[in-house]
Amino acid sequence: MIPTSHPRYKSLITRERMATCARSGVVAMEGLTAHGRGEAFDYLIGEVTTPGAAEAERIAAALFLTAKHPVISVNGNTAALCADAIAELQAVSGAIVEVNLFHRTEERILKITAILTKAGCTVIDGPVARCIPLEHDRGLCHIDGIATADVILVPLEDGDRAAALVSMNKTVIAIDLNPLSRTTQTATLPVIDEVTRAIPAITRELKGLDRKTAETLVRDIDGKKYVRDAIMTIKGRLIDVLD
Ligand code: ATP
Ligand code: MG
Repeated sequence: MIPTSHPRYKSLITRERMATCARSGVVAMEGLTAHGRGEAFDYLIGEVTTPGAAEAERIAAALFLTAKHPVISVNGNTAALCADAIAELQAVSGAIVEVNLFHRTEERILKITAILTKAGCTVIDGPVARCIPLEHDRGLCHIDGIATADVILVPLEDGDRAAALVSMNKTVIAIDLNPLSRTTQTATLPVIDEVTRAIPAITRELKGLDRKTAETLVRDIDGKKYVRDAIMTIKGRLIDVLD
């Protein structure tokens, strides 16, 4: 039992959940290392939503509101961490939820779909094809989902796939705590925040947004600004430690 008074309580509980989900096959073993990298960057960022990330979350909401065919791509880590939050975002945005895995097996797709469905998501089913310009199963996606989407939210996505989606002229919103990752560098809009903070924030913003404001917000998105903001936050925190 982890005592609630432990200063790292939230992180320890989350690790326990990730370990349970890895044992049941929802999270890939490799996903545990990806989680660790995320934790490290969250430590550096201060485990809060920075003003830059909050701004990116507002623009992400605007992209959902103005999209014709938005899709939320969900992997094992994201489902383990925040299936409920995905269901809420789907309810508010009307986006399609698609399970899309780097370590793709039918068994894991079924398990992740079950978690999402239990949380209240409607998960896309139907034909898949290799529509993303990547080799092997990593290029597979749903024809009525990612393949034809205009806006795609990719939490915790691999850099290659984020770049491939951008090359297909899609608007890619990444959620990734690492300002140096290729995902963050290549996404149209990098949300540099922890996924369990970022997704509810996008949903909250979406609830209060009108179309006219949204149309203004999505004009001339400068993804690099959010990378710079996150790096300046980390730099400032590191220097503060030395003072
Ligand atoms: P690149 O994008 O450079 O290819 P990568 O492919 O090695 O990086 P992955 O391991 O595929 O990165 O993806 C994991 C990414 O997700 C890491 O950058 C990590 O910081 C981020 N991440 C992990 N857990 C979380 C979380 N809970 N919230 C937000 N980001 C997270
Ligand atoms: Mg990668």
